[in-house]
Amino acid sequence: MYQAPLPPEYATLTTDDARTRIIEAKRQLGTRIVILGHHYQRDEIIEHADYRGDSFKLAKDANRHPEAEYIVFCGVHFMAESADILTPDHQKVILPNLAAGCSMADMANLFQVRNCWRDLEKIVREQIIVPVTYINSAANLKAFVGEKGGTVCTSTNAPKAVEWALSQGQKVLFFPDQHLGRNTGAKMGYDPERDMVVWDPHKPLGGNSEEQISTATFILWKGHCSVHQRFTVEQVEAAKSKHPNIKILVHPECPIEVVRLSDLNGSTEFIINTVNAAEPGSAWAIGTEINLVNRLAKENPDKTVFCLDPMICPCATMYRIHPSFLLYVLDKLVAGEPINVIEVPQKTKDFAKVALDRMLTLV
Ligand code: SF4
Repeated sequence: MYQAPLPPEYATLTTDDARTRIIEAKRQLGTRIVILGHHYQRDEIIEHADYRGDSFKLAKDANRHPEAEYIVFCGVHFMAESADILTPDHQKVILPNLAAGCSMADMANLFQVRNCWRDLEKIVREQIIVPVTYINSAANLKAFVGEKGGTVCTSTNAPKAVEWALSQGQKVLFFPDQHLGRNTGAKMGYDPERDMVVWDPHKPLGGNSEEQISTATFILWKGHCSVHQRFTVEQVEAAKSKHPNIKILVHPECPIEVVRLSDLNGSTEFIINTVNAAEPGSAWAIGTEINLVNRLAKENPDKTVFCLDPMICPCATMYRIHPSFLLYVLDKLVAGEPINVIEVPQKTKDFAKVALDRMLTLV
């Protein structure tokens, strides 16, 4: 989405000035606002968050303060949409920078998914396909899934969601992240070579034959996270050879070769809880976003914690929530002129809520 440039007096603020003014604006707004901060946000944002979490936790936290008029979501666009769907109509959700999207979510759109669904239905007439969308997807895709009897999932509950989907039908269409789908299926005992095909939306039949589609249990959308796909087998081997007692802990959005070589894998909350609960003196190479890894290292000074990829960059879109953007939307709220309100159309909301509510029951 298009984000208008900040007025010059905000664009040129120092970090310290922005910090002082955010604290003051927050004080003035009091219980009228709740600030949610995703773990991948920079420290200068996280320090102002009333709740921090991954997308699953924040989807639940969004509902904790029905008295608040505004939920300021320091995350990316699909998260703000989910918060708008899950909260009552009197609450408005604000995204401080409208350009904070998610490159993975952008890899599947409604037109492409509808075409895929139509092709699949023609091929697998006797079998029921259940769509499962990762929460990292646009609201209209969540609505599509709700309408077709599927569910939303997160990296926390993906195995439960897929298990549920396979109790409803014989095949799962999993989008937009092929890696989470593949890792989840493999964890459940399915063979990626035999039981899964990848659907490339730019090729006829996703680049598969009718027979391949008929025999597969998983149809995995060809999407990925630009942050997590960067982790490699070579990085795991280098970490292990430098630190013999290292534990490798990665997110399931990483490629399956990396997940297979890791000691543990799981959602962002799982990664945080595992490191926090680890023995003092233990060493961890983490395969996830760098802001989170650096914060974990700071909050666990008795352990060695570092990123598996020494060259990794932050999630570029999460990074667009700069303190000046947060301050600007807060100042506008103080002035009674809310901006950057995320509003999902009612019809989309209704079906998307079906799929999101199902997600919240599959814990
Ligand atoms: S880390 Fe990956 S999946 Fe998460 S918001 Fe950034 S691009 Fe999207």
